[in-house]
Amino acid sequence: MVSRVIPVEAFDLVIFGGTGDLARRKILPGLFRRYCAGQMPENSRVIGAARGDMDNDGYRAFVAEAVREFGGRRSCEDGTLDGFLERMAFVSIDARGEKGWSEMAELMRPDVVRAFYFSVAPSLFGDLAERLNQHGLTDDSSRIVVEKPFGRDLDSARALNRDLAAYFDEGQIYRIDHYLGKETVQNLMAVRFGNMLFEPLWNSQYVDHIQITVAETVGVGGRGEYYDKSGAMRDMVQNHLMQLLCLIAMEPPSKFDPDAVRDEKLKVIRALDPVEPHHIVRGQYDATEGAESYREEVGDPRSRTESYIAMKLGISNWRWAGTPFYLRTGKRLKARSSEITIVFKELNHSIFGEAGDHRNELSIRLQPNEGIELGVTIKEPGPGGMRLINVPLDMSFAQALGADAEDPPDAYERLIMDVIRGNQTLFMRGDEVEAAWAWTDPIINGWDARGDVPKTYESGSEGPVDAVQLLARDTRVWRKVSP
Ligand code: NAP
Repeated sequence: MVSRVIPVEAFDLVIFGGTGDLARRKILPGLFRRYCAGQMPENSRVIGAARGDMDNDGYRAFVAEAVREFGGRRSCEDGTLDGFLERMAFVSIDARGEKGWSEMAELMRPDVVRAFYFSVAPSLFGDLAERLNQHGLTDDSSRIVVEKPFGRDLDSARALNRDLAAYFDEGQIYRIDHYLGKETVQNLMAVRFGNMLFEPLWNSQYVDHIQITVAETVGVGGRGEYYDKSGAMRDMVQNHLMQLLCLIAMEPPSKFDPDAVRDEKLKVIRALDPVEPHHIVRGQYDATEGAESYREEVGDPRSRTESYIAMKLGISNWRWAGTPFYLRTGKRLKARSSEITIVFKELNHSIFGEAGDHRNELSIRLQPNEGIELGVTIKEPGPGGMRLINVPLDMSFAQALGADAEDPPDAYERLIMDVIRGNQTLFMRGDEVEAAWAWTDPIINGWDARGDVPKTYESGSEGPVDAVQLLARDTRVWRKVSP
């Protein structure tokens, strides 16, 4: 198979927070993998920036360690790491002070793409934007990349957008949602808009309902302090699940172009119905043998933050009115599994008489084992009459595409290269983020006003029993959470 890779221009990429957890686990190993793939042009450089005192050699040792620990399976030729490390530099800088800014100004080169990755707490985004501008480090073609969380409600998201807009055009701001960088998520668009087969059926006339599940086995672990102020709604639903929902529900954009795609996603968010309180189930995991409860982990015996959420959503537009979307996400569940399932309606009439439940389901697995599965009805082999069974037409990417798919680029790798190429299709626009918060805020405010307490669920289970009821009331069932 011949793969066509769009070349990137030479760049200077500054990673503010270059010594942090995200840089260590994702950004730096991701860049190394792109380097191995020959995607980092000769004279490109990566400049780590943080307050800590470190020289270039110290930073190279840090990067080498990060690559060894998190570099992934992609094999690189001997000596490749040394070549990568030669492109690294470090500047000790304070986002809130004057330290380091003139050194950085001296280091930056003209005539290459300048990208600034804000891998720091969102409270520093405004300071960084201001100082980059003050020190003349940016021009019209410079880009900034900002990490989640992008606000904790509509007001704070608006304030962040305003802080960035004071110095950058929308076309220069790349708001990362790493779910959009996943191979299968992009494949969702390829499947929908690249085949005649599915799009004609992609509406409430043929689709019974849609399920989106993002299940994790881990608890909050060391992120307890952050997570307890956020919860599953802010941490997962407002951004990742909402983005997946948009890609499934949006109208076909006129072309695969950043604003055309994002315009259509925005229309979906704006068409979401307000959610009735009885269409939401919040949960919190309990202790289990050898593992603490949510409340023990976050150190607050009265915490009301949800580690699980399930909800039924409606979209009031021509395409989807009458087709519910069921979303669920949670921690400490039975298996780590993320998937989207389109459940088609039953046949109007079965010529086979009593045929059982033989609905088609299209399932898009995000993790593990990215792939797409279509459930079809066939005759059970052998004599004895016409008995029907459902079997999967399974396209596991690893099987179908061979080695290329066994080790696909990580979401961060792809997204960083899109920043350098100047392609914003897989990044959230400011108005999208605000619309998502405008929909989320009343739900969270309602819980606060009612003093809503999440239901406990057993660690290692499929979530609270009430979530099963949420679908049972509509005579539907969740797909099994299985690895
Ligand atoms: P972290 O481990 O706490 O690292 C923070 C980094 O920022 C460090 O390099 C720190 O170095 C630097 N820093 C702090 N204050 C600074 C200042 N005033 N000026 C310059 N540098 C400063 O945080 P992280 O986990 O990497 O997260 C970074 C961002 O990514 C956050 O917005 C987070 O929400 C987001 N994010 C993280 C993850 C993840 O898996 N870690 C996932 C999704 C999103 P010094 O202290 O030496 O300055």
